[in-house]
Amino acid sequence: MVSRIVHEPVGVCALITPWNYPLLQLSWKVAPAIAAGNTMVIKPSEVTPLTSIVLVELCEEVGIPAGVVNIVLGDGPSVGAPLTEHTDVDMVSFTGGLSTGQKIIRASAETVKRTAVELGGKNPNIVFADTDFELAVDYVILAVFLHSGQVCSAGARLIIEDSVADAVVDEVVRRAQRIRLGDGLADGVEVGPLVSAAHLAKIEDFVAAARAEGATIRCGGARPDDPDLAQGYFYLPTVITDLAPVVAADPRGDLRSAADRGAVPHRGRGGPARQRHRVRPGRCGVHRRHGPRPPGGVRAASRHRLDQRLPPVLPGAEWGGMGRSGNGRELGPTGLAEYQEIKHVWTNTAPQPQGWFSGR
Ligand code: NAD
Repeated sequence: MVSRIVHEPVGVCALITPWNYPLLQLSWKVAPAIAAGNTMVIKPSEVTPLTSIVLVELCEEVGIPAGVVNIVLGDGPSVGAPLTEHTDVDMVSFTGGLSTGQKIIRASAETVKRTAVELGGKNPNIVFADTDFELAVDYVILAVFLHSGQVCSAGARLIIEDSVADAVVDEVVRRAQRIRLGDGLADGVEVGPLVSAAHLAKIEDFVAAARAEGATIRCGGARPDDPDLAQGYFYLPTVITDLAPVVAADPRGDLRSAADRGAVPHRGRGGPARQRHRVRPGRCGVHRRHGPRPPGGVRAASRHRLDQRLPPVLPGAEWGGMGRSGNGRELGPTGLAEYQEIKHVWTNTAPQPQGWFSGR
């Protein structure tokens, strides 16, 4: 008897991606999908399709056979949804918002497709009193305002231990007010515009809702009044206390419930290790900023230089969420396994009649 476990491609994979980090998100899907031997149909965000088109052209240029990497362009309902329902599609790998992810899982149920969904979240950043103050503030600012805050893993909820809460919030507000907005490619600019008018409107709605619920807008909470920025989708770096998102600083936050979900900048020995067991995110950073660290400060990030010493993700380590932040994993061995079927091939090397039933 020979028993073999064989990893086979899943088949045709629909790769549906969002507008933020469009090339990176797609690369995390295309590379393992090809490595596992699949063919694929890419559906990039209708807001940011260009880098995906270039990636497909590069695949062609390096000799990947025609028909392996395909791309379709258009919006979600008319182009994305038919892919999720199609009988010839075996798997949907999706990165995007929660409600779209839920629709995709429902649509895939009919044909029992495999789904791997990477969704959003409101990531907590926890500052304990014994954290190095300067380091904590530096990481907090970077975690939430990098890329105009358009990062699915942005540390948008700030939870601070009581004794340092006022000092941390005051310093975060002070630095947020000094962030330089402008053309994201221009020298000296620290934060660029938001991706679209729709996204700007969404943020304005969130801030209006926070105001209506009695939150305190400590800074920002409006478009900039600089006439040079009037044509772009700019929004001032915003800190809200006593409620809700953008960066929501919760000075009296319940650290225990916070530790159930977040990044843990903590100086005490053994503390981070203990917290790690109590949290339920797909990634838990200890003494760690959320985003890539630009050498020489945030300004350098606008010149697109990323720190090689401490990359934002380790390709060998899995990325993904738990609960309503998703059910899939990208990167690492599990990221590859998402695109593989497992087949057990069991060979009887000396077949004999079994004689179980008596009739011949
Ligand atoms: P979205 O859900 O609106 O759209 C994502 C993609 O799905 C787009 O290509 C869109 O056209 C497509 N789509 C929309 N409706 C569809 C449908 N019914 N069927 C099939 N496809 C459909 O998300 P978005 O606004 O483009 O991206 C932002 C979201 O992505 C945020 O929630 C962010 O947190 C999340 N995100 C998560 C990660 C992660 O790694 N978990 C990374 C980046 C972004």
